[in-house]
Amino acid sequence: MYLQEIKLNNFRNYSQLDLQFDPHLNIFIGANAQGKTNLLEAILVLALVRSHRTSNNQELIKWGTDFSRLQALVQKDQSRVSLELILSSAGKKARLNQLEQKKLSQYVGQLNVILFAPEDLNLVKGSPSVRRRFIDMEIGQIDKIYLNNISKYRQILKQRNNYLKKLRSKKTSDKLYLEVISDQLAGFGSEIIATRYQFLQKIQHFLQPIHQEITQGQENLQLDYHTLAGDPAQKVNDIYQSLLTRLTQQAQHDIAFGSTSVGPHRDDFSFVVNQKDIQKFGSQGQQRSAVLSMKLAEIDLFHQEVGDYPILLLDDVLSELDQVRQTQLLQAIHERIQTFITTTSLDNVQIDKNNRPKIFNIKAGG
Ligand code: ATP
Ligand code: MG
Repeated sequence: MYLQEIKLNNFRNYSQLDLQFDPHLNIFIGANAQGKTNLLEAILVLALVRSHRTSNNQELIKWGTDFSRLQALVQKDQSRVSLELILSSAGKKARLNQLEQKKLSQYVGQLNVILFAPEDLNLVKGSPSVRRRFIDMEIGQIDKIYLNNISKYRQILKQRNNYLKKLRSKKTSDKLYLEVISDQLAGFGSEIIATRYQFLQKIQHFLQPIHQEITQGQENLQLDYHTLAGDPAQKVNDIYQSLLTRLTQQAQHDIAFGSTSVGPHRDDFSFVVNQKDIQKFGSQGQQRSAVLSMKLAEIDLFHQEVGDYPILLLDDVLSELDQVRQTQLLQAIHERIQTFITTTSLDNVQIDKNNRPKIFNIKAGG
């Protein structure tokens, strides 16, 4: 798949913009604070209906205006789809081929993107919520059922937490209802845990040779999923049983705290190199390599799952990588992958000139 065109109205520092892209390589060049990352963000938001930089969509709307419109044309093997998003204080509207999609899960997944950005290091160094947000965004791109499960799970979690607070303040004493909600929560929660575990397993399959190459055979990288709900490698029904048991065991504790202490909203995964968790024990270089390997592995995984390559967004990353890693990344960008690169100077981007990139000079939102 590739992105043929985007149109923006009142998105970040862009009032109005219409760009036609090269199917292969596109480079956004400009000084700092001109709007290069904003463009990659626009592409990512068109794909995922959420930004990687903020969880508040209001921040995406150009200051002094009250709504933002993003449009895209995506060319696939057999078809062309049009995407449209409207962001306003009333929320967001998503249209696919002009038809409004009530369920975001029907919209997300039409355009697959993988972003490489300097903030990627947070994936290793940051808090568990960074990793959960990431894994949910990535699986959501290739699995509609997962997106539905996540949205149901969030609803029920909210209900359970509200009910726990009611029990705590003795507004009710009906524990039976708590059991009903816990059972529903375990149902959706176990599906989420099983899918996340399988996703990491699948990435692992592609990741190991890539990481061996990046580290010249020195490192063996593994992704471990952690949950209090039992062994995530079990069948989904067994995960359901153990999650339900844990929720029941934790009921008194959860009432006292007014919140739910087990489930996928508390889970995490870690990057393990040669048996050591590199969040604690890795050097910055090891952490950077691990994230790079994971994202490169995702290219292959998306291709396997969707039957088409995702598009790559490279935000200012080439200047930060050493020669080996830069070469690895550039090698991954082959003929059939559309790529967008931002940079302040072409000197930072050692691309084969035969690629004949389309170059966009970005100046203050123009
Ligand atoms: P760098 O090279 O430093 O990464 P960049 O070209 O990637 O720079 P962006 O992050 O794309 O820069 O754009 C930042 C600019 O966008 C800032 O000048 C900021 O003031 C402006 N900006 C951010 N949000 C909005 C908004 N909602 N409305 C208008 N302008 C905004
Ligand atoms: Mg930037």
